Amino acid sequence: MRIYVSADIEGVAGVVSPEQCRPGNTEYERARRLMTEEVNAAIEGALEAGASEILVNDAHGPMTNLLPEALHASAELILGKPKPLNMFAGLTPDFDAVFCIGHHARAGGFGILAHTTNGFAFRAVCINGRELGEPGLYGAYAGTLGVPVALVTGDDRCARENRDLFPEAELVEVKQALGNRAGRNLPVAAARRAIRDGALRALRRLGEMKPFVIEPPLTLEFEMNHPSLADLAAVLPPARRIDALRLELPAASVGDAIGWMNAISAMSAFLR
Ligand SMILES: [Zn+2]
Repeated sequence: MRIYVSADIEGVAGVVSPEQCRPGNTEYERARRLMTEEVNAAIEGALEAGASEILVNDAHGPMTNLLPEALHASAELILGKPKPLNMFAGLTPDFDAVFCIGHHARAGGFGILAHTTNGFAFRAVCINGRELGEPGLYGAYAGTLGVPVALVTGDDRCARENRDLFPEAELVEVKQALGNRAGRNLPVAAARRAIRDGALRALRRLGEMKPFVIEPPLTLEFEMNHPSLADLAAVLPPARRIDALRLELPAASVGDAIGWMNAISAMSAFLR
């Protein structure tokens, strides 16, 4: 059994502020340890369920957050960026399940540090009219490979958003959102235990899990945070401007849709 882990930081127990997610300060150094240990908890659950191979992809910001020396000895680790398919880089059809650890709610909604890919650029990202956050977008990519999302961990709002998309998946809540930058956290040990148990339960029920599939043809729609950001994205030849903040692009696949999103996200640095 081969397990793929996409590791983010905003949904980790004990993490509630932007400072904790940004390198260059002592709070971040603490947060990346909390992140690494939540990933380790998922790995322990996967191993107990019989996993033979575990690949972890660092999927936050600089994508060099996880501490290789502190990561479970059974897992290989993808670090760094840019990389194709970003948060799900390295996922192939021969994986049996995806875990999203430390993930978060989507842009424009409630949830601790809620955003979609790039909090500066995007107010909303939709495929075929359906607003999706990161687990939904990337989970739909995994769906094109036939791989189900079996476990998502984060706050209560993240779980609520993803219940419809992954109805059979284990959704572990390690904290409750009290605001965008405030939350009530489980004790760290209890959060790790819940993640470990969730991973174990998910893989014991793996036969019930179905890939999340969005049927083509696909239209990708972005609502940007400022008209200047929409001006910038609209220079891409396939883009069609809808109004001051919104534009749409056709996409041949979910993988291509994610490619366009990440290209616009990278371009947005020009306007920061
Ligand atoms: Zn992140």
